[in-house]
Amino acid sequence: MITKYKSNKPRHFHHGHKNKNHDHKNGEQNQINHNSKEPRLRIIPLGGCEEVGRNMTLYEYGQDIIILDMGLEFPSEDMFGIDYIIPNTDYLKGKEDRIRGVILSHGHLDHIGAAAILLEKLGNPTVIGRNMTLAMVKHRVEDYKKGTSKKLKTILIKNITDRLQLGAFQVSFFQVEHSIMDAVGVAISTPVATVIHPGDWTMERNKQTGEPVVDYSHLANLPRPSVLMLESLGAISTKQSPTSEDLRANLDQIISSAPGRVIIGTFASQVERVGWIIQISERLGKKVSLEGYSMKMNVEIAMTLGYIKCHKDTIIKSEQIGNYPDNKIVIIGTGAQGEENAALSRMLDGSHRSLRIHKTDTIILSSSIIPGNESTIQRLKDNLYRQCNNVIHGGLMDVHISGHGNRDDIAYLLKTIKPDYFIPVYGWHFMLKEAEKLAKEIGFKPENIFVADNGQVIDFDRSGGRLSTEKVPSSYVFVDGSGVTDSSNDVVLRDRKMMSEDGMIVVITTIDVKSGNLIGSPDIISRGFVYMKEHKDMIQKVRDKLRSIVRERAAGHDDDYIKNKMRHEIGQYLFQETKRRPMVLPVIIKV
Ligand SMILES: [Zn+2]
Repeated sequence: MITKYKSNKPRHFHHGHKNKNHDHKNGEQNQINHNSKEPRLRIIPLGGCEEVGRNMTLYEYGQDIIILDMGLEFPSEDMFGIDYIIPNTDYLKGKEDRIRGVILSHGHLDHIGAAAILLEKLGNPTVIGRNMTLAMVKHRVEDYKKGTSKKLKTILIKNITDRLQLGAFQVSFFQVEHSIMDAVGVAISTPVATVIHPGDWTMERNKQTGEPVVDYSHLANLPRPSVLMLESLGAISTKQSPTSEDLRANLDQIISSAPGRVIIGTFASQVERVGWIIQISERLGKKVSLEGYSMKMNVEIAMTLGYIKCHKDTIIKSEQIGNYPDNKIVIIGTGAQGEENAALSRMLDGSHRSLRIHKTDTIILSSSIIPGNESTIQRLKDNLYRQCNNVIHGGLMDVHISGHGNRDDIAYLLKTIKPDYFIPVYGWHFMLKEAEKLAKEIGFKPENIFVADNGQVIDFDRSGGRLSTEKVPSSYVFVDGSGVTDSSNDVVLRDRKMMSEDGMIVVITTIDVKSGNLIGSPDIISRGFVYMKEHKDMIQKVRDKLRSIVRERAAGHDDDYIKNKMRHEIGQYLFQETKRRPMVLPVIIKV
């Protein structure tokens, strides 16, 4: 009986079909007969347990592996020239033919952003998801390599009641709410445990009763022991999101009473909300212009699938905005986090090809602050207030719903689903720890809560679950303009990128071979970094630093050491002064 589980082809069951393989007991007995050692369920988070993003989890049972999500993470400020980070899949090397399927919970980049690269790397396993998610993955795969989306093997989850047999795993789905259409939760059953994973989720509550709109109580009836792997980003938040009804009413009121144009900055990922804004605008007889590639792409996909319904001439190009009176225009763009290249920033700094901010515009920042972006958003707000008289943001009015359940919601789910084990995931370590504390507070057994690091194996057998000490590779895998880099092989391209962004500075020192002393003053050449005549003090400081570094040669250091020191110290100093990281190229001439 085990052998048939090994089939590489996932089988698709619709609700109501009786699945012959459904009988767990039968399978178990056979396994026990053939194997003295019963397979264990190994849950391995390859990403998403030490960050927000890069979400990817492996489930391994016997010879079968399935994967949930293939997300990317955006780099921190100190990762030069890196576009994004993807999960490390070294553990899957040589195991590609055991992958029975890749389930994608929804279309956000922190869940599908690495799929184009990883699917190819892992031998094109079958991808499973709902409509919007699959459409977005296809788009990304095609963007990555033209013509390859046709090769994509997919299984569409047509109904929430669909069931799949993926090797030994029985997979069913459940409804969740999130800020994008077609988000789905999964229940993964094995003979030793049933894993419940909602992906990302938020909890809309009925305004009158306060009761959640989506019912999760059926998840308490799944075969036990059950393991709830819960996205716990909201474990640090007590703020209650407004209802979508309230949010829509607020947006409606702002858009209808705006004296001039309305400019809404939000995430391209908030497809559902963007859909509402388009519909409100259309009803008020206003035209909508979408700014930013990802915004346009997401709306286009949602419109093709019929999730956003509007007249085709409601959407106009930014060049057409001037053809209408200001109070007939709504602009929806990316950049509410102050992202440098996003539409809103380009409108503000005058680099947008056709749009500028007007004093009479109404600007709505409809997004939460991503932790770490506080100071950037502060600056963005100041700039907006300088150029515009009507800026509305979350501090003033509810113009955003979080895509993630808060503490109350997490507690509610734990009490409703009553899992035997709790594994908080998809957040920074401190968020997962807060979710753990919360679970303990409401009476969850501490020994049944696992806070894992990336790569750490969580192991289940018939006697229960445990956080093992085994760790599989989970180090960063970087992607830049040229492709995937897991080492420093692509230094050239990264250098080029760095120079194109922050320029370069060449520092030339001439040294007397005999005495080791510096001859003359160091020469400094700047290209694409700063105009030197305007930064005399800074350039002088660079010269001083070079002099003192050269003096160290007397201590017997070689040229490489000196060059590295120059690169490092000058680089740091320039960053501190300018917040830019030009490439520093030291040249030592010996005479
Ligand atoms: Zn999401």
